[in-house]
Amino acid sequence: MPTNKRERIKKALPRTYRLVQARDKGICRYCGFPGECLDHILPYWYTRDDSVENLVVACMKCNDIARDIVFPSFEAKKDYVLAIRREQIMDDLPPDSASL
Ligand SMILES: [Zn+2]
Repeated sequence: MPTNKRERIKKALPRTYRLVQARDKGICRYCGFPGECLDHILPYWYTRDDSVENLVVACMKCNDIARDIVFPSFEAKKDYVLAIRREQIMDDLPPDSASL
């Protein structure tokens, strides 16, 4: 069975999961909506770093966007994630909404 990456920390490192959720008050650090996932700021494949400092709370949508990309800073990653989220929100609009 493949490991579900999204659930890995919650199951393998429950203390880390609770610490990061408490620090970030359960709010996605990218978009500000409630988040149930943790996201590695620098991807795990790149750093093998599961420390609290490398983790932020993220919602599933934001967590899915930039998961394997290496960014120079959290701010750069946040800018990227929010730009994609804005595009997705546009895509979600019904086709005839432009004529309203
Ligand atoms: Zn989010």
